[in-house]
Amino acid sequence: KEISSRENNVAKIKVVVRKRPLNKKELARKEDDVVSVCANALTVHEPKLKVDLTAYVEKHEFCFDAVLDQQVTNDEVYRETVQPIIPIIFQRTKATCFAYGQTGSGKTYTMQPLPLRAAEDLVRLLHQPTYRDQKFKLWLSYFEIYGGKLYDLLSDRKKLCMREDGRQQVCIVGLQEFEVLDVQIVKEYIERGSNARSTGSTGANEESSRSHAILQLVVKKHNEVKDTRRNSNYDANESKNGKVVGKISFIDLAGSERGADTTDNDRQTRIEGAEINKSLLALKECIRALDNDQIHIPFRGSKLTEVLRDSFVGNSRTVMISCISPNAGSCEHTLNTLRYADRVK
Ligand code: ADP
Ligand code: MG
Repeated sequence: KEISSRENNVAKIKVVVRKRPLNKKELARKEDDVVSVCANALTVHEPKLKVDLTAYVEKHEFCFDAVLDQQVTNDEVYRETVQPIIPIIFQRTKATCFAYGQTGSGKTYTMQPLPLRAAEDLVRLLHQPTYRDQKFKLWLSYFEIYGGKLYDLLSDRKKLCMREDGRQQVCIVGLQEFEVLDVQIVKEYIERGSNARSTGSTGANEESSRSHAILQLVVKKHNEVKDTRRNSNYDANESKNGKVVGKISFIDLAGSERGADTTDNDRQTRIEGAEINKSLLALKECIRALDNDQIHIPFRGSKLTEVLRDSFVGNSRTVMISCISPNAGSCEHTLNTLRYADRVK
């Protein structure tokens, strides 16, 4: 039976903001840091000009579940965001952790170490007496959504398709899953998958900013006697790899500014921009629906939300990490990111 969200005190939706430090380029240009953090609030000091061209600063204040200032380490980010969810993964929780923000704001820097730390904790729990005898195993998969299509990042970018069974379970046909026996291997999978992300001719960062990368850690219960393929009650959820107990998905979203690429001269860029725009809007709507305990979650709005469908129903947890750049030149994007996060919270 599903445990209700009241039975544990991990918030159903948590929205945090992470500010990165000014980088070398921004320092060399003597750009101002326009973001100041105070506890769980932050202020953006937007430089503006009056009609007579005198300069002034417009202040924008925001408040979130947590604001992580520039000196906060990745370990602290993990403790603040993902770690509290780990124990309830074994209690049928499906969790998602998103990194949202403009290209260069620190999404990948934030997201990449999280699955490794989560796998460490999950493996430790698997070996505890309570779970050791239940034949739980941990599995890892890593794929990408690019231009509305799915690619397996751990098997030569094989194109994948999505299928739904009658019980609203999402199944990505052909997606490779690897059993996590030790944690070191997770590091290798993260590296291998990240190197396989869309690169195109314009260079890695340029193209990867147009894709959503999704790394999933799935806890499954394995029933040794039953051969599910010969069982008449066979369903997609009970594959040869066992029955899903809980899972956590780490999603390094496409650069939020890419959603505005809808007027670009290049047709392909326009199509991709429209797809990104659609998916980020659909994501926001789904999280808001979750927050309001709506029965109907509008996950059909995009490929991203469809793929995450089973993580938006039942006992779910969502963490949104909004990454922001501190430099004056990024002010507009920073405000867009904070407004998006504000709508989600
Ligand atoms: P994104 O994935 O959002 O495009 P990246 O994660 O690639 O951005 O970050 C851009 C650059 O900024 C990288 O060189 C990264 O190492 C650096 N960076 C990002 N966040 C931080 C941080 N919190 N502290 C130090 N450096 C950071
Ligand atoms: Mg990135």
